[in-house]
Amino acid sequence: MAKTIYIAGLGLIGASMALGIKRDHPDYEILGYNRSQASRDIALKEGMIDRATDDFASFAPLADIIILSLPIKQTITFIMELANLDLKEGVIISDAGSTKSAIVDAAEQYLTGKPVRFVGAHPMAGSHKTGAASADVNLFENAYYIFTPSSLTSPDALEEMKDLLSGLHARFIEIDAKEHDRVTSQISHFPHILASSLMEQTAVYAQEHEMARRFAAGGFRDMTRIAESEPGMWTSILLSNRETILDRIEDFKERLDEVGQAINKGDEEQIWNFFNQAREQRQAMEIHKRGGVDSSYDLYVDVPDEENVILRILELLRGTSLVNIHINEENREDIHGILQISFKNAQDLERAEHLITENTDYTVVIK
Ligand code: NAD
Repeated sequence: MAKTIYIAGLGLIGASMALGIKRDHPDYEILGYNRSQASRDIALKEGMIDRATDDFASFAPLADIIILSLPIKQTITFIMELANLDLKEGVIISDAGSTKSAIVDAAEQYLTGKPVRFVGAHPMAGSHKTGAASADVNLFENAYYIFTPSSLTSPDALEEMKDLLSGLHARFIEIDAKEHDRVTSQISHFPHILASSLMEQTAVYAQEHEMARRFAAGGFRDMTRIAESEPGMWTSILLSNRETILDRIEDFKERLDEVGQAINKGDEEQIWNFFNQAREQRQAMEIHKRGGVDSSYDLYVDVPDEENVILRILELLRGTSLVNIHINEENREDIHGILQISFKNAQDLERAEHLITENTDYTVVIK
């Protein structure tokens, strides 16, 4: 039976979800709320949604499923607003917030006793881009789509959500909201703090040591890539997961002190063990097996510095969906080869490796 879906917030996540829902459920009607007209217009024009409003409350009573894809604070405000609206009996309310405890707590506080079901959710994919203009139907492909069930989540609500979102081609997983926030504080929130701190430290240092900018190469780039993320989103993430993140910061300070002491003492064995342990731990990690969150599929080609080399490779890869191409020309110290090409999935990576090795003499490395 065709359903009416209401997506509030037609930003990167909301608009990409609309595209993914349409892919498997072209008969569903998708309604969209957005504050600014620009994203409403894009979403209508591109056929992501069927109708749009700037008045959140107006479409809510029409929906079978409501997805709030807004900043965390605004998600909570709208949950409070939904508690006072006359919604369809048994409506499912879900969200996309990057932290879960604050949102799930608010849902339990304001929606308990109402004839609604709530499914906390966090689609673990994204980018530094924002707005409906950046929407991508493949954004969630192979990414974890995390559900955080609570007292307001019945098993049938979860099944309905999975059916609704099947066209996203994501990997559904369930986890407790508090545990979600602990895990993401370690593998996502804290790394963002580190990347931005490292970037700021380097920028200040470079004022006195100008060559620092020029010598920064692959390792530095990998470590600081996420410092380009959207500041508003990360501010609200840190503020909605304070205690857990503070705990990670304290833990890290101790680790830094320990390495500092080992260096101070000149303890060669301790320093070697420090690096070796981290190396072994990383090699054993999921991210290394290509299934990890946010991983891309990278291929490095050691190419000569000659005219038309890149064109030749791109010509070979015609029809393969590469997502990024990067030329590392400044410093080859800690990178394999010079041309880095990223793919969305393992099949395209394998195909590219085969095509380049069959048709050229260049060395191809997959890390
Ligand atoms: P976005 O900036 O692209 O979109 C945000 C949306 O919220 C826009 O539609 C904007 O108009 C609306 N909005 C912002 N403030 C508002 C307010 N005060 N009142 C009404 N509407 C308001 O951001 P996004 O990346 O789509 O993020 C949406 C949610 O998804 C956030 O909770 C974010 O934490 C979560 N999320 C983001 C990512 C990511 O990497 N971008 C990944 C997973 C989850």
